[in-house]
Amino acid sequence: MDTIFTKIEKGEIPSTKIYEDEKCFVIMDINPVLKGHALVISRKPYPNVGSCPDDVLSHLILVAKKIEERQRKVLGNQGSNIIINSDPASGQEVPHIHVHVIPRYDGDGRHHFAEHDKYSDGEMAALGEKLRIR
Ligand code: AMP
Repeated sequence: MDTIFTKIEKGEIPSTKIYEDEKCFVIMDINPVLKGHALVISRKPYPNVGSCPDDVLSHLILVAKKIEERQRKVLGNQGSNIIINSDPASGQEVPHIHVHVIPRYDGDGRHHFAEHDKYSDGEMAALGEKLRIR
């Protein structure tokens, strides 16, 4: 299935590419949270984290690490958000796995998650018990 990113990979849609190898390519996000925001995109369009083979997923993260290092050197950001949205419920707009690498600065005022839940007494431990992987 074609996605906007497969079209970018084929050159049908223009992009600013900053890295590529056999498994992935990296472009500048057209609508950056902050300037320099980059997307590390799998060449194959796995729709979400669960469907992405382990070797590809780990490769994407290692490339994100390189991009983050480069951003810090060039942009001077003090931090980063390295994020994968997985499926539409998470806010994922493009169903083709990619890692966001977003440069962050002290006091830049961007809010990652504006709202948070609160646990009732004992709820966190009970849920942790269900979620524990044995
Ligand atoms: P997500 O919501 O995790 O699927 O993120 C999709 C990202 O792709 C968004 O941050 C968009 O700004 C970005 N995006 C969509 N179309 C393009 C494009 N043509 N070139 C670069 N980035 C894009």
